[in-house]
Amino acid sequence: MKKTETKAKNEEGKKIVGAGCNDNKCHIHGSVKARGRVYEGTVTRKLPTRIVIELERMIYSSKYERYYKSKTKIHAHLPKCMENEIHVGDLIKIQECRPLSKIIHFVVIKKIKSGEELK
Ligand SMILES: [Zn+2]
Repeated sequence: MKKTETKAKNEEGKKIVGAGCNDNKCHIHGSVKARGRVYEGTVTRKLPTRIVIELERMIYSSKYERYYKSKTKIHAHLPKCMENEIHVGDLIKIQECRPLSKIIHFVVIKKIKSGEELK
């Protein structure tokens, strides 16, 4: 009995969260599964269905035997249910998924910090 009760509860919860999100490329409500590499970076541009994030990484140069900083830009899909909480300057987490278009193969997983908190 207990098992069936919890199942029903979960289904209800999903319906509530999924309200208003009919995005097929959403990793929570759509058919896209997030898997693979995870990155954290700051949002530099926001477009209707995607965002551009910039992340700094250290690269080892064997010629000079030291590390140097390099910036990488990644385009990620922004699901409809997260459209209102993510703005330019925020620190967010993205994860790799199947290629959604020519340049998009990442989805936004969650927001870590807002831009105002970072300042
Ligand atoms: Zn969604």
